[in-house]
Amino acid sequence: MPELPEVETVRRGLADRVVGRELGAPVVAHPRAVRRQEGGAALFSGRATGVVHSARRRGKYLWLEVGDRDDVVVAHLGMSGQFRVVDAPPDDDPHARVWWPLDDGTTVVFRDQRTFGWVLADRMAGEVPTAVAHIARDPFDPAFDREATARAIRRSTSGVKRVLLNQSVVSGIGNIYADETLWRVGTPPDRPASRLTQKDAIRLLDTATEVMDEALAAGGTSFDPLYVAVNGESGWFERRLDAYGRQDLPCRRCGTAIVREQFANRSSHRCPRCQRPPRGGG
Ligand SMILES: [Zn+2]
Repeated sequence: MPELPEVETVRRGLADRVVGRELGAPVVAHPRAVRRQEGGAALFSGRATGVVHSARRRGKYLWLEVGDRDDVVVAHLGMSGQFRVVDAPPDDDPHARVWWPLDDGTTVVFRDQRTFGWVLADRMAGEVPTAVAHIARDPFDPAFDREATARAIRRSTSGVKRVLLNQSVVSGIGNIYADETLWRVGTPPDRPASRLTQKDAIRLLDTATEVMDEALAAGGTSFDPLYVAVNGESGWFERRLDAYGRQDLPCRRCGTAIVREQFANRSSHRCPRCQRPPRGGG
C-alpha cells in the first residue's frame, strides 16, 4: 500500500513525464475511480484537462495543477493505484481506470486493480486542494512544524500507532512505516501517546522521517507487484524492513520472534522484547 515515499516516487515521475504537457479530455473507463466527483464522470472529463503546471503532494495525496492555476486534478492511490505513461491508449488493460491523451502523443493512465484509489477535478483552497484541506502537513513539507506536531501527538490518549496513522495529526505515514518507526524507537504500538514526553514525541517524528527518507532513497517500498512508478518499472526493491511483514522471524536487534497482532482491521508487527510496555504501564 503506497505511503509517503511511494507517493512521492510517483509524484517525481509525473513531474518528469507529465508536467509541461497538455492533458486532453480524459476517458473514464470505470466510474468508481471518479466516485468522489459530484457530477460524476461527465463533470470530471470536462474539467480535468489543460496544460499541467506542476505535480504536488501532501502526505499520500497527489495533485496536478492544470489549466488556469486554480484547477487541479487530485489523486489518491488507495491500495494499488499507479500512474503510467504509455505509448498507446490502454484499451487492453483491465486495470486502466482513467486515462488522458497528452499532446506529445503519449497517454497517462491511472491504473488501480483494487479500486480503492480515486481521481477528482478540484480547486485549490489556499495551499492545497479542497479535498486535501483536512490533511496535516507531512514531515517532508518545508513548513512542517515538528514541535507543534509533537505536542499534537501528546494531546491524544490513543495508542501511539493510531496517532501516527491519523492523517490530520501528521500525514504520509501508513501501516508499514508506523511499524518500522515504532520498532526503531522501541515503543509498543498501544502506548498512550499522552504519556510521551515532548522529547519522545520529537524522536518518534524524526525516526518516522528517517525511515521514510531511506525508503524514498530506495524508490519506495512495495510488497506488491501492482505498485509501479510512473514509467512502469516496478517499485519493488529489496529494502530491509525490520518489523513489518517479519512475523515469526528473529528481531534483528535481540533475536526474539517478531509478533503480528490485530490492529483495527490491519495488523501490527512488533518485537515483544524491544517494544514492551514500560513498567507501570507507561
Ligand atoms: Zn527485539
